[in-house]
Amino acid sequence: MSVVTLGAKFVFDVPQPSLGSDDAQRLDDLFRLYESENERQLGYPCSAMFDYTPLYRFLSFPLNNVGDPFKSSNTSLQTHDLEREVLAVFAQLAHAPVDSYWGYVTSGGTEGNMHGISLARELHPEGVVYHSEDTHYSVTKILRALRVPNIAVQSRPDGSMNLEHLSESIQRHRNRPQIILANIGTTMKGAVDDLPGIREIVKHHAAGEFYIHADAALSGMILPFLDAPPPWDFSAGVDSISISGHKMIGSPFPCGVALARKANVDRIARRIEYTGSLDTTVSGSRNAFAPMFLWYALKTIGVEGFRARVRECMEVAEYACNRLVTAGRNAWRHTYSNTVVFTRPPLAIIQKWQLAVKGEIAHLVTMPHVTRRHIDDLVADLME
Ligand SMILES: *Cc1c(COP(=O)(O)O)cnc(C)c1O
Repeated sequence: MSVVTLGAKFVFDVPQPSLGSDDAQRLDDLFRLYESENERQLGYPCSAMFDYTPLYRFLSFPLNNVGDPFKSSNTSLQTHDLEREVLAVFAQLAHAPVDSYWGYVTSGGTEGNMHGISLARELHPEGVVYHSEDTHYSVTKILRALRVPNIAVQSRPDGSMNLEHLSESIQRHRNRPQIILANIGTTMKGAVDDLPGIREIVKHHAAGEFYIHADAALSGMILPFLDAPPPWDFSAGVDSISISGHKMIGSPFPCGVALARKANVDRIARRIEYTGSLDTTVSGSRNAFAPMFLWYALKTIGVEGFRARVRECMEVAEYACNRLVTAGRNAWRHTYSNTVVFTRPPLAIIQKWQLAVKGEIAHLVTMPHVTRRHIDDLVADLME
């Protein structure tokens, strides 16, 4: 037996504590449960189709991406280089201004939203946040935690923000800066808020300052691959974007990407230099495997690979829509979304297919692991 001081390479020289047989059995049971449930996951937009086996060997190192990926680091046990490459791909997909964007790999869409809203608030301390009623619960939680004044704007039946109501709401607070939380793919209906329309309204009311953060958790990895997507990204005037990594790309752990205009991040960084009170990232210690896994997926599947995957997802969504309509379920979807909304089915079916429900409606999301056969099986269950 040797002394363990030098890290993973030597760890197996010492006897490893092992599980008792009952606990080992529990793990085996869990493994079998996941194997059988993995496939029937229709309601939550997380791809189950990925293989990161070649990266497993890295799990024996205590890697940590603490800090800003664009600043030099005094530890080697990090993946900041890979992280910057991942950010460059997302920046290109989201038409971020070349060489003047900033970002980092987050723990998920929620952290990216927190980053965007915090940044907007630092830039516009007197700002009011406007978001639609269909906004993800993570956003309302963040607004509460940060104590940012905010207004829930009505939604249209299709899930997008009602711009007449936005205009009226802004009119009432026109002397304060406007921070718009735009949904780029709402959770329940996959709706994309009308960014050109929103910009027209904020400019019309022009008290001067405004900021737009885009919550593109799922659709940020779908819209770049469509032929004629609705305006959604930096080229449509957004100032920051949050995209999930574990949704369309797929990952064994939650992760995501936050992107923002560098000039804004620098303005804040300068102001806080004196106090040292705020860091550029929301989290301190950060998952270094997330950038590595995303990098691997982007390198192996590639942009063209994702374009093909997204096309297939859209075709399966259209197929699901048609089959559900035939089954009398009033199904519909936005043409740019793989979220299919339909009449809420009985509980047993919701549970079996892990569908997401809200009030009278349910949805399924045709992620890469969802095939026409899954849809046929679901429809067969609905017809029984
Ligand atoms: C999933 C989702 C989120 C939250 O993202 P996490 O990665 O789960 O933190 C936020 N907004 C929307 C619209 C989402 O679909």
